[in-house]
Amino acid sequence: MTPTHLIGALSALALLVPTTAAAATAPPAPAPPGRPVDFFAALPKGGDLHNHLSGAVSTEFLIELAADDGLCVTTDTTTAVTPPCGPGTRPAADALTDTAFRRQVIRAWSMQDFPADGNGHDHFFATFGKFGEATWRHPGRMLAEVANTAARQNQFYLETMISPASGQARDLADEVGYDADLDRMHDKLLADGALDTVVRKARADADATDTEFRTAAHCDTPRPDAACSLPYRWISQVGRLGTPERVFTQMALGMRLAERDPRFVAVNLVQPEDGEVALRDYRLHMRMLNYLKTRYPKAHITLHAGELVPGLVKPEDLTFHIREAARTGRAERIGHGVSVLHEDRWESLMRDMADRRIAVEVPFHSNEQILRVSGDAHPFATYRRHGVPVVLATDDPGVSRIEITDEYRRAGEMYGLGYRELRDLARASLEHSFLPGRGLWSHDVRTGYRPAGPCAGERQGDGRPGERCAGFLNRNLKAQVQWRQEAAFRRFEATHTHATRPGARPGTL
Ligand SMILES: [Zn+2]
Repeated sequence: MTPTHLIGALSALALLVPTTAAAATAPPAPAPPGRPVDFFAALPKGGDLHNHLSGAVSTEFLIELAADDGLCVTTDTTTAVTPPCGPGTRPAADALTDTAFRRQVIRAWSMQDFPADGNGHDHFFATFGKFGEATWRHPGRMLAEVANTAARQNQFYLETMISPASGQARDLADEVGYDADLDRMHDKLLADGALDTVVRKARADADATDTEFRTAAHCDTPRPDAACSLPYRWISQVGRLGTPERVFTQMALGMRLAERDPRFVAVNLVQPEDGEVALRDYRLHMRMLNYLKTRYPKAHITLHAGELVPGLVKPEDLTFHIREAARTGRAERIGHGVSVLHEDRWESLMRDMADRRIAVEVPFHSNEQILRVSGDAHPFATYRRHGVPVVLATDDPGVSRIEITDEYRRAGEMYGLGYRELRDLARASLEHSFLPGRGLWSHDVRTGYRPAGPCAGERQGDGRPGERCAGFLNRNLKAQVQWRQEAAFRRFEATHTHATRPGARPGTL
């Protein structure tokens, strides 16, 4: 642990404890004059566990970053490129003042105004290539923006995805080449400390990101942003369209990081699951993870799996991705899982996921925009009926032009979930987070979340927990964050007595 990081970790913990106590006694925030309190906005909403950092910031913020860096934008494909702004490009700064150009950039870099009958899948994934140049220099500023948004939505935790030291990982992979003997491949990466050099680079980048974040969020000033008291962790992305050596190297890097640096917790496979290479190498990728889990047993794994629909891939490809991710790929959480009803023996798969407490990360809006799946066609209700843990997430809220509040609103309005069910979704998102330590709850499908452990006899979220419970909270970050959320639920229930009674429908407010 670097000294910078030690300070960061300690101050994050130090911030948490007083905030818990202060938050428990703080009066509820008043509604802006003339506007009714929005039930879904005010609702405590756990943590966001499926969030890609560059896709999470708003498009307007990306334009600001591009303008600050003096970038240019091509006029045909609306792609951010480095200066000088030659023929066929315009300064990105023009998008700050020229309304028509600004609209063009916003439409190209997000789902704004995208026609319902268009190819949302291709447009959505293409946005990352268009705005990418604007993002990589400023992970700390982007994190501040995303963490502030999460805190404003009454969230308590964030796991966000980045591709750490991606250039160095790619170079190492290309130098080492592929070896189908994964054990030997891993040894080659470790030889002469090569992989550890990349790990060190990733950790140094994370230090720089922390510093940029703390400046952007005014953390070391008398008026720190809300982001400063929001604990966050990194999930390392692995591009599934790469060569086998690049995929394996990114996986090994992400898992080694997760064991060496507490700011990193897991790996995840990204890029379209229906891409040609992703489909061809799907089982190979799962075997790679299976092997690496034996080398890095403490690293967590969450996988985009089943982000598919009929017509996008051939029928056979719909039948095994989620099961393979959960079994061979050792995934503790599944991202999307939309095609689950097309899997072979899907009911036994769901039973298995329920038994092993493998959670599904559900971003309704992303699924609607990319896959055109929503309402009854979405397996959300089926997962819940089968006792599979479900957590709501945003995926790429900047691209989708939504916030986590919109996901909870949809769960309430489209699926008719009442307050207690929404509260359990929020609790599930902290329970299935990769935060270290034990949580507050035992969970049973029939009884839901019940307090367990040293804090079981306390009023959950109380400002003055007993000695044993306080000691437990200090030792277990997961429980500590859950405690903060329970305090928020108590305040919420005090101000929304009508809507939170059993059987009440939030939509009737
Ligand atoms: Zn995703």
